Amino acid sequence: MSTSEQMTTRIYLAQRPHGEPTDEDLRVEEASVPPPGQGQALLQTLYLSLDPYMRGRMSAAESYAEPLAVGDTMCGSTVSRVLACPGGQFAPGDLVLSYGGWQTHSVEPTRSLRRLDPAQAPVSTALGVLGMPGFTAYAGLLTIGRPQPGETVVVAAATGPVGSAVGQIARIRGARAVGIAGGADKVAVLREFGFDAAIDRHALDFPARLAEATPDGIDVYFENVGGPVFDAVLQRLNTYARIPVCGLVSGYNATSLPQGPDRLGLLMSLILTKRMTVRGFIQDQFVADQAGDFRRDMSRWVTDGQVRYREDVIDGLDGAREAFRGLLHGRNLGKLLVRVAD
Ligand code: NDP
Repeated sequence: MSTSEQMTTRIYLAQRPHGEPTDEDLRVEEASVPPPGQGQALLQTLYLSLDPYMRGRMSAAESYAEPLAVGDTMCGSTVSRVLACPGGQFAPGDLVLSYGGWQTHSVEPTRSLRRLDPAQAPVSTALGVLGMPGFTAYAGLLTIGRPQPGETVVVAAATGPVGSAVGQIARIRGARAVGIAGGADKVAVLREFGFDAAIDRHALDFPARLAEATPDGIDVYFENVGGPVFDAVLQRLNTYARIPVCGLVSGYNATSLPQGPDRLGLLMSLILTKRMTVRGFIQDQFVADQAGDFRRDMSRWVTDGQVRYREDVIDGLDGAREAFRGLLHGRNLGKLLVRVAD
């Protein structure tokens, strides 16, 4: 087949979801891919990263990034193989980190691609521990959380790519890491990762277990989830606690504000009296200053085993929609990836 006849299977935003995204919201179709011009490359997707932020892109609500337009291919980072590159910046067969989205083939500007060396690390790690999620953990924890030796750091979604890196970096910095995750299998994985304590968020006595696991209170709470986990954490925060607000995944499919009493007054009073720092961040604000340090430190930690990671790989683009729904319910165990092609 010539490059001008290249087809792609793509999953696109057919309509904006109300609550959980359905197969009607995200539809599959075959489409042709235009031939790459100068400064472009034709790519075949090998791995697609599924990340919680994608739920926000499906919505028209105001956020830190522009929403996708109805009809757009779902966005997402990919590890791809170069099939053709008329300008010669890449050779056919090169492996690259790209932003090809939920599709089997794409044409991308060569300036947006980063070459990957499979001899250095499995290429899939460029989407997880050595990629954006790992960087999010590194920059958010070290810049805002600033864990000190002997302090207690708590993180939820702790087997995921962000949370698992947060806990392990906290330990490298001499802090005590307490991980929260959903289910006994995940709690067991947290112990393998070296967390000092691991708690199941589904436990009926979760607040009591959290209190038991944090006898000296909480100095850093790396906020990934919000909801009932945050309610329990709030009671345990120490004076001068730091809260990097990274994500609130428990509410990403919400269609209305949560039920229950208004806790804003309590929260503001705790922020004041305990002189806490609560700071939201989006990882890309730290890229210019910290990407180099991250690559150096994280590559070393992964190579020498100080930071471990898990991947949850599903096969075939067809499964991406169901896997994405599962991500927002905690059905993944580790960095969620779709293997689109071998
Ligand atoms: P994960 O792979 O950890 O997947 C999300 C996890 O969230 C699930 O596995 C589940 O873990 C947990 N979860 C789902 N629903 C709930 C719920 N109702 N209550 C509590 N926990 C729930 O995701 P990532 O590591 O990729 O991302 C973690 C967080 O970081 C997300 O909030 C994401 O949006 C945010 N993020 C923010 C960035 C930024 O720049 N600010 C960049 C990248 C990520 P479990 O079942 O174990 O509880």
